[in-house]
Amino acid sequence: MNAAGHAALDATHDVDPEAVLAALEAALAIEAAHPPHPLPARARELLRQARDALHQALAEGESARLRYHALFDAVPDPVSILSESGIVLDLNRAGIRAYGRARGDIVGQPIETLNPDLPPDHLKPVWETLNRGETYVIEVTNMRGDGSRFPVEVHSAGFVHAGRPCIVAVARDLSGRWQAESRYRLLLESIDKGVVLLDRDLALVTANPAAHRILGFDQDLAERAGLEHWVIVDEHGRPLPPDQWPAAHSLRSGQIVPSTTIGMHHLPSDRMLWLSATTVPVFSSGRDQADHVFVLFSDITELKRDSALFDRAQSLAHIGGWEWDRGRRQLYLTEETRRIVDLGAEAPDMDALLAHLRGEDRRRLEAALEQALERHASFDLELQGQRGDGRVFWIRIIGEVEPGNHASTRVAGTLQDITERKQAEETLRVQARTDPLTTIMNRDAILGELEARLEEPAHAQVAVLYIDLDRFKTVNDVLGHGAGDELLVRTAQRIALAIGTEGLLARFGGDEFLVVCDAGSDPGQAPKLAEAILAALARPFRFGEEEFSISASIGIAYAPGDGQRPQQLIQNADIAMYDCKRRSRNAWQVFSPDMAQKQQDRLLIETQLRRALDNGEFRLAYQPQVDLRHGTVVAAEALIRWQSHQLGELRPDLFIGHAETTGDIVRIGDWVLREACRQAREWQQQGLGVVRVAINVSYRQFVAEDLAEKVRETLAEFGLPGSALELEFTERVLIEDAPATLRTFAELRQMGVVLTIDDFGEGYSALNYLRRLPIHGLKLSQLFVEGVPGNRSDVAVCEAVSGIARSLGLGLVAEGVESEAQRRFLLELGVPVGQGFLFAPGLPPDEFARRLGAAVRRAPL
Ligand code: C2E
Ligand code: MG
Ligand code: MG
Repeated sequence: MNAAGHAALDATHDVDPEAVLAALEAALAIEAAHPPHPLPARARELLRQARDALHQALAEGESARLRYHALFDAVPDPVSILSESGIVLDLNRAGIRAYGRARGDIVGQPIETLNPDLPPDHLKPVWETLNRGETYVIEVTNMRGDGSRFPVEVHSAGFVHAGRPCIVAVARDLSGRWQAESRYRLLLESIDKGVVLLDRDLALVTANPAAHRILGFDQDLAERAGLEHWVIVDEHGRPLPPDQWPAAHSLRSGQIVPSTTIGMHHLPSDRMLWLSATTVPVFSSGRDQADHVFVLFSDITELKRDSALFDRAQSLAHIGGWEWDRGRRQLYLTEETRRIVDLGAEAPDMDALLAHLRGEDRRRLEAALEQALERHASFDLELQGQRGDGRVFWIRIIGEVEPGNHASTRVAGTLQDITERKQAEETLRVQARTDPLTTIMNRDAILGELEARLEEPAHAQVAVLYIDLDRFKTVNDVLGHGAGDELLVRTAQRIALAIGTEGLLARFGGDEFLVVCDAGSDPGQAPKLAEAILAALARPFRFGEEEFSISASIGIAYAPGDGQRPQQLIQNADIAMYDCKRRSRNAWQVFSPDMAQKQQDRLLIETQLRRALDNGEFRLAYQPQVDLRHGTVVAAEALIRWQSHQLGELRPDLFIGHAETTGDIVRIGDWVLREACRQAREWQQQGLGVVRVAINVSYRQFVAEDLAEKVRETLAEFGLPGSALELEFTERVLIEDAPATLRTFAELRQMGVVLTIDDFGEGYSALNYLRRLPIHGLKLSQLFVEGVPGNRSDVAVCEAVSGIARSLGLGLVAEGVESEAQRRFLLELGVPVGQGFLFAPGLPPDEFARRLGAAVRRAPL
């Protein structure tokens, strides 16, 4: 203690022991110096004892003082002794260092020197506490000599010095702790993660601003935090009782519970909050039981909502996700993927998924995964599998290796349920293979079947039956399309019944059916089936009141002999059918190569024919019809000639039939009509008078169009009377018997057009037709003229036809008169007009005109 300190202490009591000692020493010295001693020996002894005692006391005091100082200065924290009023009585060395001032600047000064911020009556609560015998602790900020401040925690205790209450105050520098604490506080305040501290009862102790924000607490944290307002649920929305909370787990186990998704439903506001929370147990020092728990959380409400939306969207689109880690043998599947593939909740491996796939598709996926990992090839596969319940599913699986990581063993992608689409495709496929009317296979389907059979060597011996209904068109025209359809349906049923399981049946076209059967084991199988089909169709069909018979022509072709490809085989069966139809209907015919040659010619002709009209390759030759008695020309028959650029000159017999099949005859016929009329008009204008021109009209022209109207227009165009035109048609017209035919005949007759049946006697020749039809004449077929007068049966036919013509009042022209004998015979038979090489072949118009002119000059028509 220095002098000032002593002085200060002196102020607290009255007696100075040093002075007493000095006085004692002085008294004893005086007494010794003045013998006889004035004091009795006893007193002198007492004085001495007092002096010694005082000496000793002082020595002890000094050593106590030294100990006190050693201790005082050894304390690392600033320690000050304050008087009752707050004057600093003493300050240790640490204090001098901490405050950065000279001792004299502090000791004897009020405590405010060290802490200018203290309120005026700050000692009051201090003394209240000290008087209770307790220690007073306060955190304050003290000031250094340079004016800077530092935080201290001051522990104050009271003691009595020299009868006066004093304070010993130990100040602990908090700068270090404060720094750590402020960093911690700054961190808590600035991070966007919510942090709350819960006690053992899971009651909220404290929460950082982010927690306030996330949880929607405003001011009154405690009230809002009241747990009765919240329902806590797990990630699936199932309510979690408090003992199941992650915080409770942490408290119980003393372990960190990482990233758990929990939902918090705030009842008053009906707000749903999703959090990802990590709970960290807090242990007080020395305790092995956690007494607090930190909960760190972030708001994943939006993420959860987005992912729920995504899940829902995926589930609506039946798309799921998957990720396979080959390295760790782990397969992660989203809910939807599990649902699609029918995998349970247990963590499956890729093997479990593969096990659900069809053998072939399993291998495809394995290979694709392998490729993806080895070569980083992405894949996109459509695979078929089977669920546990036996239902078949189809999936589209897309996958790729985790991008950017070359060493990755992870493949991820999507998996989509495409079962519905596949089933729809299958339905479409079936529909695409079925003829909607008859419900038997259609053209494409049978082509596919045939293709498949021809590809398999064991089945390469196949027969194809090409079935075409005879006169189906007539049914359609006469009974209407409804009946036509009905007939096709019933025909299909009858054929199906007839062939049973021996062949495959398909509708190949309008009234065409195809049967494919095996020809390997029994070569007679196909003809047998053909017979069975014909027999099945032989019974008449009934349509209400009407009964209708229909027959079929069947062509048969065999693979591999008649073709190894479906198209060729069918085409050859078609050729055989066509050949059969031309010969005799209601029959079957096996294909032979010469038929094919004919067919090829036919094709060539048909192709050329289509262009012939546009190319101007047709012309008309005119063969005179001659009065057999006088040799005068009475009319001309226009005969078409085709000078094909490609095929050369072709006679009508070679191409008219084809033109009729293709329908080209209608356009050609129109041309003939116009050209003949134009020519007649020209001759007329040349002063040759009105030459009646006979044109040949195909039955197709009667069926296809309003022939009468066309004739009327053409005659009008060239200003010709009806009588300038004669129409020759064959008995085919009568057979086809289109409903409008009779009316057409009547109209033409009314125009004055002459109507003649050509080649009479060759064909149908039903006499009742002749009676019904308003025709003018017949042409006796050259087939019979040829044989007269030598051939008796030809003579008989000619006589009969001549008789019919006479009795029906019809004109008669003999065709193909080549000899004088024929002319004479016919003349005797009473046939007035003839036509033939005896007089002239078909002539070019000029030639015809020349001959006509000569005749005109001789004897006008
Ligand atoms: P068609 O109407 O009976 O014509 C008579 C055929 O006999 C003609 O043959 C004619 O050249 C031939 N001919 C005439 N006199 C004799 C003879 O003394 N002896 C022999 N052997 N033949 C003779 P073409 O011109 O070849 O005509 C054949 C058939 O083609 C015609 O027979 C006719 O049915 C048809 N045709 C000709 N032109 C046309 C036409 O413009 N339209 C249609 N639809 N058919 C036609
Ligand atoms: Mg003719
Ligand atoms: Mg003829």
